[in-house]
Amino acid sequence: MHEFAICARIVDAVLKEYAQLDPKPNRLIRARVVVRSMHQIVPDYLISAFELLTRETAVQGATMELVTVPVTSRCRACDRQGEIKLPIFRCDACGSLDLEASGGKELYLDSLEVEWNDEAMERGKVHEGALNN
Ligand SMILES: [Zn+2]
Repeated sequence: MHEFAICARIVDAVLKEYAQLDPKPNRLIRARVVVRSMHQIVPDYLISAFELLTRETAVQGATMELVTVPVTSRCRACDRQGEIKLPIFRCDACGSLDLEASGGKELYLDSLEVEWNDEAMERGKVHEGALNN
């Protein structure tokens, strides 16, 4: 299952980041993951997989928030910029298939929201790029 494999990488990154937090938090509340729509992920599967894979770990009970961002591209034929619409990468303006996807990470752990002494705190941009190896 596609989502399960992706989620295993997310959970690895979450556990690694969580273990490095100092002072040690009480618990992880939420992990925010940003994904580009190119992955064609079914969010519900990914979220269920996260629950399953974090069982019996240090972050058990945490929820995952999935933020999907569109993939943008530039057409090499007419220079139009737009959002890539799956499943066919085709220029909206001229129909060319010669598109150049814009840069940026496809999947990364954006932030962890943890609880320290009953006070919820967010630690943003914790490990950008951690999931692109
Ligand atoms: Zn075009």
